[in-house]
Amino acid sequence: MADVVLTDLRKSFGGLEVIKGVDLHIESGEFCVFVGPSGCGKSTLLRMISGLEDVSSGRIEIGGKDVTRAEPKDRGIAMVFQSYALYPHLTVRENIGFGLSLARRPKAEIKEKVDAVARTLQLEDYLDRKPKALSGGQRQRVAIGRSIVRDPSVFLFDEPLSNLDAALRAQMRIELTDLHAKLGTTMIYVTHDQVEAMTMADKIVVLNGGRIEQVGAPMELYDRPATPFVAGFIGSPK
Ligand code: ADP
Ligand code: MG
Repeated sequence: MADVVLTDLRKSFGGLEVIKGVDLHIESGEFCVFVGPSGCGKSTLLRMISGLEDVSSGRIEIGGKDVTRAEPKDRGIAMVFQSYALYPHLTVRENIGFGLSLARRPKAEIKEKVDAVARTLQLEDYLDRKPKALSGGQRQRVAIGRSIVRDPSVFLFDEPLSNLDAALRAQMRIELTDLHAKLGTTMIYVTHDQVEAMTMADKIVVLNGGRIEQVGAPMELYDRPATPFVAGFIGSPK
């Protein structure tokens, strides 16, 4: 379990500042959603937390440790992208266990962990299949399984459902909410979709032009939007 604390975080690309001083405290176990229009800096902020992008200035703490300059693998995080990035030639079992195999964990331990993850994600009946013999939702679950198996303390999701059709998106929203309830892990979830934000979040962070407009629980933002931008984005008139 780990909370995530961002202090005056900034990022410039070639002299242009795109993250303009972000201060945020995400509590341990919270489902936190970053929402905002395309280009507002959601992915950049998430990539800075993951360590895939350097920070220009400011500080990132995960679980009480300063990880501002730490390698991604040393941050206790797992990142789930919208593209499934599964290995087509490996079975579901091999895909989920891949990271553990690379780390040369004992075979018995890998089997035990993959079985547990498959139960959590309801993939027990598909472990011997290759990705091409799975539905879109099943593939997305395998991608998530590859992260869970490494016991991260924080999950980072960047628009993981945006390639799915509407019906599957609705189903995956429920599955991800269930998964969060089962694992109790801190989750940071990026989307430009208000419905995802409103239905999944404990806490919503509304971003606009590289700054935080407002932070609050979904109904707080809905009932008391701080700015016309938030009102327009979350959907209630101000
Ligand atoms: P979002 O995920 O909210 O759509 P991004 O974080 O991808 O927004 O982008 C925020 C801003 O930073 C955009 O103006 C984008 O063009 C710019 N940007 C992102 N990555 C780079 C990069 N590697 N080089 C230059 N500009 C970038
Ligand atoms: Mg993005």
